[in-house]
Amino acid sequence: MMKLFLLCLLYIQVFSLSPDTLAKQHTDGYVNIAEADTSAGILILVNKDHKLPEGYRPDDLVPIEEAYNRGAMNLLRKEAASAFANMCRRAAKDSITLWNRSAYRSDTVQQELFENAVMRRGLKSAEQFSARPGHSEHQTGLTIDINNVHYSFGNTPEAAWLKEHAHRFGYIERYPQGKENITGYQYEPWHYRYVGKKAATYIYQHKITLEEYHEIIGKQTRKTSR
Ligand SMILES: [Zn+2]
Repeated sequence: MMKLFLLCLLYIQVFSLSPDTLAKQHTDGYVNIAEADTSAGILILVNKDHKLPEGYRPDDLVPIEEAYNRGAMNLLRKEAASAFANMCRRAAKDSITLWNRSAYRSDTVQQELFENAVMRRGLKSAEQFSARPGHSEHQTGLTIDINNVHYSFGNTPEAAWLKEHAHRFGYIERYPQGKENITGYQYEPWHYRYVGKKAATYIYQHKITLEEYHEIIGKQTRKTSR
């Protein structure tokens, strides 16, 4: 009986500890850096702990349809670009206007953005919203900043529409409110990531992040830190 009680206690401890451990790991960031698993395709995980190989550039980048673009950085991987255009077309039927503000960025561009952010806001603050080069999801060609890169965007009908419908087109809200400790980034209502319909629907239905999805499917192969 005592044994059973101890076993139950251990079980409770293990399972109540794991979210904290996950949160800690990502809050600190840039501590245990592994190479991002590029063989994961559209499910690739890039964050403060997963860095893209030097000079990584997807080989199927295409321009976003002109009608849905207002940004200088207008490239996405083919599948993501086509899904984005479909989403914009569907949104328009609900009188919702969506457009690309910023999509693919090379590591050179990311380096400039990060350095600017550090100069403007200091390192600690910059780390909350700007990625170091090689750690930006924008470099995967699967990520897009939609409409306005401003927190006020979170209160618009466009943001509400995206929150509710993006998964049907394979997109997820990548840095949701309340998940900052897991993603390592503050809430960004404009930043969407393409993962395909199946993963997006699962993530939407379970209200989780891509980090948690990877923990669940256990498909992320962590390689030796560099
Ligand atoms: Zn973004």
